[in-house]
Amino acid sequence: DTPLDVVDPEVHALIGAELARQRSTLEMIASENFAPAAVMAAQGSVLTNKYAEGYPGRRYYGGCEHVDVIEQIAIDRVKTLFGAEAANVQPHSGAQANAAAMAALLEPGDTILGLDLAHGGHLTHGMRINFSGRLYHVVAYHVRESDHLVDMDEVERLAREHRPRLVIAGWSAYPRHLDFAAFRRIADEVGAYLMVDMAHFAGLVAAGLHPSPVPHAHVTTTTTHKTLGGPRGGVILSTEELARKINSSVFPGQQGGPLEHVIAAKAVSFRIAAGEAFRERQRRTLEGARILADRLLAPDAAAAGVKVLTGGTDVHLVLVDLRESALDGKQAEDRLHAAGITVNRNAVPFDPRPPMVTSGLRIGTPALATRGFEAADFAEVSDVIATALAPEADLSFLRDRVEVLAGKHPLYGEAR
Ligand code: PLP
Repeated sequence: DTPLDVVDPEVHALIGAELARQRSTLEMIASENFAPAAVMAAQGSVLTNKYAEGYPGRRYYGGCEHVDVIEQIAIDRVKTLFGAEAANVQPHSGAQANAAAMAALLEPGDTILGLDLAHGGHLTHGMRINFSGRLYHVVAYHVRESDHLVDMDEVERLAREHRPRLVIAGWSAYPRHLDFAAFRRIADEVGAYLMVDMAHFAGLVAAGLHPSPVPHAHVTTTTTHKTLGGPRGGVILSTEELARKINSSVFPGQQGGPLEHVIAAKAVSFRIAAGEAFRERQRRTLEGARILADRLLAPDAAAAGVKVLTGGTDVHLVLVDLRESALDGKQAEDRLHAAGITVNRNAVPFDPRPPMVTSGLRIGTPALATRGFEAADFAEVSDVIATALAPEADLSFLRDRVEVLAGKHPLYGEAR
């Protein structure tokens, strides 16, 4: 029972340094969040020791009496949270949830129709060197150049032309709601399954602040660590009819032993997500994103060549378009980093710059909302961002403003 600082001072010190970084900077990567201490307590528990291949009541190992109950609780809670008929809580990540769901519905060589990665889709929706692009025949749909909204006419046209076996709706970088009913109508017309990947917006759905894809999709996948605010991991929701296929695709199809410590942490996070405090936090997440979009639409930002894709947001993130700015995505990311704000550069659709540079930023509010940010705090951080993206910004002065905000919202038991 030797403590970590004695067993491995090097790793212990680096974890401490990462905690200090998380506390002293403002985390605005749209896919990140702060898992509550209760979630981390479950994840860091003795459950890490247990093998439990199989499913509750049907395991290939002895001694599963407690993990059986835990996994069943996680399944029941997530079904209730999203109104799903069936759930598999074993995928180790969002990518593995998608791999297993697709393997359950498709044969290698089948055609899939997903949003182009360069237009906001995810790697697992058909990127060339991802498993999805290697195993399946990929057809990609896009956003329109005129308004940067998903072009449902193109989705319909491509579906009729290519008759995909699977249509994928969902995104990693898109600031508006998708029309899930329209996707389902198109999928039905061509005899395809509809899979919605709600990894990014699952927390908003759980809080009832975003339309739910679950009634429309045959299969809905998600991560548990983004807006949902739980441990890193994945979940697959489906109709009862598809549940057996999905289960056997996850285990033994894709994975071995489930991570019962992570499943316990998922269960804790689903309980938290069903509560009023979570809903209030998601409300502040959306409010913060709207405040940021409004600030970046102001005349001074526009004069610096900063634009907001689609002119605003309905979700937890804002996509900043720097195609007309003197700064590229990399320079803008570096400037915000120097000011103490962590974001990621992101290609905008029709981006003229290479993927390692890009002409955009993706800025999200979930982590700051978890940290307790209210409207006034979001207004202040939005002003810091707008100022940092203007020519000749004084980054050390902005860093001071960031420190005040960070100090106002202590993290993980930090003394004020
Ligand atoms: N699906 C979407 C839409 C995502 O944005 C992501 C993560 O960025 C994933 C799936 C993959 O999740 P993970 O990183 O847990 O594999």
